[in-house]
Amino acid sequence: MKIWAIVLLTAAAVCAKHEKYIGWKSYIVQPSTLEQVKALHLLEPTLELDFLSHATTSREGVVLVKPEHQADFIAALAKLEVEYKVHAENIKEKLDYDDFLIERRNREIRARNGRSLPYDNYQTLEAIDAYLDEIAAKYPDTVTLVEPAKSFEGRTIKYLKISTTNFEDDSKPVIFIDGGIHSREWISPPTVTYAIHKLTEDVTDPDLLDNFDWIILPIVNPDGYKYSHDTDRFWRKTRSTDQHTLGFFCPGVDGNRNYDFAWNTAGTSNNPCTEIFAGSKPLSEIETQVVAEIMKTYLPRMTLYLTMHSFGSMILYPWGHDGSLSQQALALHTVGINMAEAIHERALPNFPRYQVGNSALVIQYAAAGAAEDYAHSLGVPLSYTYELPGLSRDMWGFHLDPAYIPQVCEETWAGIIVGARRSRELFG
Ligand SMILES: [Zn+2]
Repeated sequence: MKIWAIVLLTAAAVCAKHEKYIGWKSYIVQPSTLEQVKALHLLEPTLELDFLSHATTSREGVVLVKPEHQADFIAALAKLEVEYKVHAENIKEKLDYDDFLIERRNREIRARNGRSLPYDNYQTLEAIDAYLDEIAAKYPDTVTLVEPAKSFEGRTIKYLKISTTNFEDDSKPVIFIDGGIHSREWISPPTVTYAIHKLTEDVTDPDLLDNFDWIILPIVNPDGYKYSHDTDRFWRKTRSTDQHTLGFFCPGVDGNRNYDFAWNTAGTSNNPCTEIFAGSKPLSEIETQVVAEIMKTYLPRMTLYLTMHSFGSMILYPWGHDGSLSQQALALHTVGINMAEAIHERALPNFPRYQVGNSALVIQYAAAGAAEDYAHSLGVPLSYTYELPGLSRDMWGFHLDPAYIPQVCEETWAGIIVGARRSRELFG
């Protein structure tokens, strides 16, 4: 059967999906001045813009725009003299095609290996949970499955503790990696589950097991992740409905604005219907409470915290709430560069180079209540947000072809290895 015929058949099968996005478009915007960057953010509430990646003077951004605001958006860009071009002309069609690519890749992998794993395709929550259960059962000497709480909607939040000494050797640094707090950033969980794979099923660097204890939480926000798969591909927040009186109309909190440091002071909104609603109070969400509890429990030994997001090819460090530098700025910057260099050695030539720096300075936008700032405020010396790559030929963003997932996992793992080793040298 011809490829186009398969595409059409698959598209027909899933046409009921993504209907919300009929008529929506995404645009690439390239501001050339800081004033233009700020002006773009000011358009956000009135035109209900959704920045899938932030635009800066050195990196173009991608914005999702509803049909009813597209004419005003174009007019505003013209007035501001901001360069733009259409990124995806028809979001629903694009999402249908993304589904086709994922399903095709699942079929190919099943034909080759018998099963598709969480780090070789975009997988369902159920598949990722099953993988964690399986690894814990298969490697009982080193792996402990922890189920610390239920999500707002009652799903079990799961993470793995990986240690050759059952976390009893106090001299070992603890490395904590999480993913999936922003549910639509689907490239995040594969890089986190790949770390599990490299610490259990395919150990090529035994010092990482001998010298460290690991805590790995692939999906911080299972409700949002499930919703992004089943109902709304661009769902970013949690799914809580108890944060304000309009909870059932505009559910959810931006988990990465909900942490208890400089909470709700910058880059957030009190409007619960926006993508950057910070919640009714710090750590209002059970999902962020779980992350905070892990940090506090292992704080004396935690030398490195990484939280995986997408997209933009950036390694970002505190303080993101105001752009100031912490007392560990030199270590944060040098280890950030070390990780980026390790990634570059394995990156594809058409992937953008990583940018490394203070969150607020690199993205030219301060945002408070983020996990990276919170971990650092508690005392984790090296704390970073990874904005993973989003390039697939000429199509940026959340439409990254799943064929690129192994590449992104492998290069990201190279960065993690270097980050862990450097954290032990400096703070272990
Ligand atoms: Zn994110």
